[in-house]
Amino acid sequence: MPTILRVALDTPLRRPFDYLPATAPDTPLPGVGRRVRVPFGRRRLVGVVVAIADSSDVPTARLKPVLEVLDPQPLLDAASLAILEWAAQYYHHPIGQVLASALPRPLRLGAPAAASLRCWQLTAAGEAALAASEPRRAPRQRSLLELLCERGPATAADLDSHGGDWRPAARALSARGWISTEQVPAVSLPPPPASAIVRTAGPELLSEQAAAVEAIAASLGRFAAFVLHGITGSGKTEVYLRLIERVLQAGQRALVLVPEIGLTPQLLTRFRARFDAPMAVLHSALTDHERLLAWRDAFSGRARIVIGTRSAVFAPVPDLGVIVVDEEHDGSFKQHEGGFRYSARDLAVWRAQHAAVPVVLGSATPALETLHNAVAGRYRLLRLERRAARAALPLLKLVDLRQHAVQSGISTPALQAMQKHLAAGGQVLVFLNRRGYAPTLLCTACGWIAPCRECDARLTVHLAAGRLRCHHCGADAPLPPRCLQCGFSVKPVGQGTERIAETLAARFPDMPIARLDRDVVRQRGDLEELMRRMSSGEARILVGTQMVTKGHHFPDVTLVLVLNADQGLFSTDFRAPERLAQTIVQVAGRAGRGARAGEVLIQTEFPDHPLLTSLLTGGYDGFARAALEERAQAAWPPFSRLAALRDSAATPQAALAFLTAARALAGRPPAGVQLLGPVPAAMAKRAGRYHAQLLIESRARATLHRFLDEWLPEIEQLKSARTVRWTLDVDPIALF
Ligand code: ADP
Ligand code: ZN
Ligand code: ZN
Repeated sequence: MPTILRVALDTPLRRPFDYLPATAPDTPLPGVGRRVRVPFGRRRLVGVVVAIADSSDVPTARLKPVLEVLDPQPLLDAASLAILEWAAQYYHHPIGQVLASALPRPLRLGAPAAASLRCWQLTAAGEAALAASEPRRAPRQRSLLELLCERGPATAADLDSHGGDWRPAARALSARGWISTEQVPAVSLPPPPASAIVRTAGPELLSEQAAAVEAIAASLGRFAAFVLHGITGSGKTEVYLRLIERVLQAGQRALVLVPEIGLTPQLLTRFRARFDAPMAVLHSALTDHERLLAWRDAFSGRARIVIGTRSAVFAPVPDLGVIVVDEEHDGSFKQHEGGFRYSARDLAVWRAQHAAVPVVLGSATPALETLHNAVAGRYRLLRLERRAARAALPLLKLVDLRQHAVQSGISTPALQAMQKHLAAGGQVLVFLNRRGYAPTLLCTACGWIAPCRECDARLTVHLAAGRLRCHHCGADAPLPPRCLQCGFSVKPVGQGTERIAETLAARFPDMPIARLDRDVVRQRGDLEELMRRMSSGEARILVGTQMVTKGHHFPDVTLVLVLNADQGLFSTDFRAPERLAQTIVQVAGRAGRGARAGEVLIQTEFPDHPLLTSLLTGGYDGFARAALEERAQAAWPPFSRLAALRDSAATPQAALAFLTAARALAGRPPAGVQLLGPVPAAMAKRAGRYHAQLLIESRARATLHRFLDEWLPEIEQLKSARTVRWTLDVDPIALF
C-alpha cells in the first residue's frame, strides 16, 4: 500500500493535494504538520502535510513525489492544525490559504523554523567549582556561575536581561570548562523560577479585582470563558497581569490579543515593567523578518507571553495557560479584507476550548454577541464597577443642537464648558469621527460638489496639505481654487478634525492644541510624541478621531466633547447603534481618570433618540438590554446566524448578475435558510468597482453551514465566478 501525503498548498482550491514521499535516499517520511516543497504545475510550492493516507483518488502512477522535507520537527502541532482546519471549515475558506495566513511570509517561502536556541549552562566541573567557592577573585564570573546554578540553562537574551556585559565572564568560564554552550529546544528550557518572573509588584487589588482573578484562576487547567466587563480605568489590565503572573509561575505561557498595538504602547510598557519574562510581540507593522523572529520566539517557547493583534490568535504557544482578548468588542479582531474573514475573538474562544484553558474577554463595552453569550450561560460575566485609581465616573449630558447657537460645529454650552474646565486646569478632549478639514467642497454659485470619480462619495478637503482626498479609495488631487464646473469660487463645508483644531486655536489662543488622527500620526514616534505632549500637560486640548478612544491614559482630562453623535443613529447597518454606543462610552471613559471628576457633553440634534436616552439613563448596560431586545425582535444576530456573499465588478449589472445566478443555484433553499437580496451596496461604487451583496440568514448555525457547504462548490462552477471578485463573509460585522 503506498503512503500518500496530503499537502495543503496556498491555492484557491478547497482541497489538499496528494503527493508521494520523496524519492531521494535518507529523506525522512514527513509527519503531519511539517512543511514540504512540492512540484505544482510548472512551479514549486511550499505546503504543509495535513494528513497521511494510504490511498488517493488520483492513480498512484500520476502522483508526484515531494521534492524536499523542510522541517525536522512539525511546524504545526496537532492543536495548531486543529484550529486552522476548524477555521477553514467554519469560514468556508481553502485550508491552504488559511494556513498561509497563519504563517509569517518567510516560513511560507521555506525559511527554517529554527526551534532551538544556544544556551549557556553549568558543567559538573562548574558545579564543583561553585561548591568550593571558586572563583574567588573574579566576581563577575562568580555571579554568572551563581546565576546559571540558580536558574538553569540561559539564553543570551536571558543573560542580557540581567544587565552588564556578561560575555567576557562567559568566555573565561568556558575556557576553564566550568560552563558550556549547547543548542537546546527552548520548549524544554526550564521556566524561570517564580521569584524571577515579577519585576515590580502591582498595587494591592480591589475586592472586585481580586474576586475576578480568583474566579478565573480557579478555572486554570480547563476551559471556561469569562467576560470581564469593567469601565475604562476599572483595573481590567491589572486583572490580566495578575492572572498571567499565576500562569507564568505555573510554568505555562500566556497569549494576549489586543486590537492595535500601535495605539496602545502603554499596554506593552506595562507588561514589560511588570514581568521579567521574555515576550514576543506580533502585529501588522512588523517587517517580514521581524515577524519571523517574533514567531520563532513563540514557537520555540522562549517567549513566556505572546502579545499580538488579530493574526496572533494562530501563533504557536507551547504549554498555553490562558488567553486574554483585550477590548474584545473591537471591530479590528474581525479580518475584513481578502477571502479569509475570520474573527480572532471567536477563534480565541474556540482555541481556549480546544487547549482546555480559560479565556478572558475584557471590555468596557462588550459586544452584544458576547453579552448574549453571558446571559445564555455560556460565558461567565465578571464585573468591575468601580474605578481603580479612585476617580469618580464622568457625568454624561446631551447638548440639543436645535436649541443652541452653533459656530463652526461647536455649540455655546460646549464652548462654555471648555472655558470652565480649562480655567480650572483640566485638559479637554474633543472627539469628531472625521479627519481632514471639511467633508465637502462646494461651489457657492452653481452648487457643484467635488466628487470622487471612482466612488459614490465626496472628496474631503485637506486644507493644510492643499489636497482633495477620497477616504474610500485614496484618490488624491490638488485643491482647486475655483469651481471645476463654472469657475466661480468654492468653499469647504462641514467640519473635520483639522478645521475644529483651527477653530479652537482661534477661540483659545493661549491653550496649546494637539490633534490625533491618521493624517498626523504617520510614522513610529508620532503617536509617542503626541502622548507625551498630552501626558505632560503641555497640550491642553486634544482633538481627535476614533484613535482617541483607544487605551490612552490622560489623568488630567476632565471634559470630553462628542461633537457629532448623529452619524450612526440612522444607518442601514443593524450594528451601527452598537458601534456608536461603544464609541461614546469609550470616549467618555477618557474623562476623569485622574483624581478629578469628569464631564462628558454629547452634541446631537436628536436628544430624544432611544439609543441616546437608554445610554444616558441606563449606561451601556441599559443600552445593551434595549438593543438586544430589538435584535431579538428583528431576528438579527445573535438571534440568528448570518453570512454575506459579496462581490464587485466593472459594472453594476455584472455585480448583481453573479449574485442573482448564485441565488438561482440555491433554488428553494432548505427550511430555516433565507436568502436576502441581492442588493447593491449602500455605497455601490468604490474604487471604480460596483459592489453588491446577498445575505444568507438562518436561525441555526448548523443549518446555515450545511447549506453553505453544498452551495459554495456550485457557486465556484459559475462562469461569472471567474469574472467578478467575490467573497463569503461568515458572521459579517459590517453590512453595507
Ligand atoms: P483598565 O484596563 O480597566 O482601563 P487599568 O488596569 O489600566 O484599567 O487601571 C487603571 C489605572 O488604575 C491604572 O493606572 C492602574 O495602574 C490603576 N490601578 C489598577 N488597579 C489598581 C489597584 N488595585 N489599586 C490602585 N491602582 C490601580
Ligand atoms: Zn460652480
Ligand atoms: Zn474614491
